[in-house]
Amino acid sequence: MTDTPTQLFIGGAWLDAADGATMPVDDPATGEILCRIADAGPKDAKLAEEAAVQAQEEWARTAPRARSEILRRAYEIILERTDELAHLMTAEMGKPLAEARGEVAYAAEFFRWFSEEAVRIDGGAGILPDGRNRMLLSRRPVGPCLLITPWNFPLAMSTRKIGPAIAAGCTMVLKPAPQTPLSSLALAAILKEAGLPDGVLNVVTTSRAGEVCEPLLRGGRIRKLSFTGSTNVGRLLLAQSAEAVVRTSMELGGNAPFIVFEDADLDKAVDGAMLAKMRNMGEACTAANRFFVHHSVAEEFGRRLAERMGALVVGPGTRNGVDVGPLIDRTGRGKVEALVADAVERGARVLVGGRTPEGPGCFYPPTVLTDVSPESRLMDTEIFGPVAAILTFGDEDEVIRRANDTPWGLVGYVFTEGLDRALRVSERLEVGMVGLNTGLVSNPAAPFGGVKQSGLGREGGRVGIEEFLEYQYLAMPVR
Ligand code: NAP
Repeated sequence: MTDTPTQLFIGGAWLDAADGATMPVDDPATGEILCRIADAGPKDAKLAEEAAVQAQEEWARTAPRARSEILRRAYEIILERTDELAHLMTAEMGKPLAEARGEVAYAAEFFRWFSEEAVRIDGGAGILPDGRNRMLLSRRPVGPCLLITPWNFPLAMSTRKIGPAIAAGCTMVLKPAPQTPLSSLALAAILKEAGLPDGVLNVVTTSRAGEVCEPLLRGGRIRKLSFTGSTNVGRLLLAQSAEAVVRTSMELGGNAPFIVFEDADLDKAVDGAMLAKMRNMGEACTAANRFFVHHSVAEEFGRRLAERMGALVVGPGTRNGVDVGPLIDRTGRGKVEALVADAVERGARVLVGGRTPEGPGCFYPPTVLTDVSPESRLMDTEIFGPVAAILTFGDEDEVIRRANDTPWGLVGYVFTEGLDRALRVSERLEVGMVGLNTGLVSNPAAPFGGVKQSGLGREGGRVGIEEFLEYQYLAMPVR
């Protein structure tokens, strides 16, 4: 912790907030303050924007190979410092160290992937259909970007945006979540060490997100917003972006259905459920939120899942053998408690968990609820906690209708051994991603994103860099 930067990173320098304000970063396992960091105000944000705008032209002209190599070096440094970064992430976010190490590897992979994409930005040339004109198509960076990230994957949500922005030749201002700013500040230091020129990446940590971001979005100099967070905040930022016609990428909330058919391999389904539900203590946009299990296998599935969930060890993420760390804060835990209480009031049975432990920290036990009423609030609310809610269904049409009956469409999980059914159901689900007999879809080489109110655009994969590029078409007569 002693070497971790705690100041704003603007124009390549570490600065205090202009008004000297600071804010605490808490350890969710103890509720104690880990450290204090700079708390930026609108003046600091303007300074960061100015640094990004000033750096843009020269940065756009750098050789793609040079941008690629900076990303590659940063990828290698991140991997060398896996342990240090994992401890930092566990301290500020709570996830167990093994999961934090996994996130470090996942986060680094975005830099490796986009270091490979930076040198493959294409263009085009051709004769137009009339035969009298030529066209030249070139790609150029969209310009200075505002990147806003959530707390649940403090490093990976940053690299998933910074990687393609660097590869495309964009400069940026990053505003990380106030609960988990330390991972992003450590990342900025690594990028500087890897040779990123001053002003290309600027990081403003703040407790005043609205005051800091709105003027940038409305001001006309930021050309792109890439946001990951809740649908409600995304909607607000889309409205703010409309004024200066800022291009947007939105990775928003989910309400994933997890469907287990009667012909599913139940071992695979339970393994998949553990991953889809318990990765990150359930604090993931991809977390299975509604388990629809065919009535003929529901009891067996519920029993096996409860057994596995009940065997997990809950405790501080730094302790050996712990599987489930604390939730992010008291508000997050309070929301989970209220959703479980509501479901139980409406008739759900608690197979395991469901009781908040005494003592410090924001712990909540792995919980399985069965006989959940479709009217329960957790059916149309992201639980964001270690709670599996099981409902039963009778046939395929019915379960597809119920799975799609939500404003969200990020991911769905389907468990069946029938190939035809697997494809048919996947095609009919209104989601951007499907996990077929698997509980994990995230991969830097695949386009991540949702439909409906789960977002706009994709991150990662071949298309991830497109979000940061514009076309320029040049017309020229054939002579
Ligand atoms: P959130 O409350 O929407 O916050 C996300 C980020 O937006 C934070 O940095 C937050 O800062 C900032 N923010 C809030 N209001 C703002 C405003 N008016 N102007 C500018 N920035 C603002 O979400 P969260 O609780 O951190 O994260 C959980 C949500 O993220 C869930 O809904 C989850 O599904 C979603 N998520 C989606 C994906 C995906 O890829 N689709 C991935 C991960 C998470 P403050 O906290 O200071 O307000």
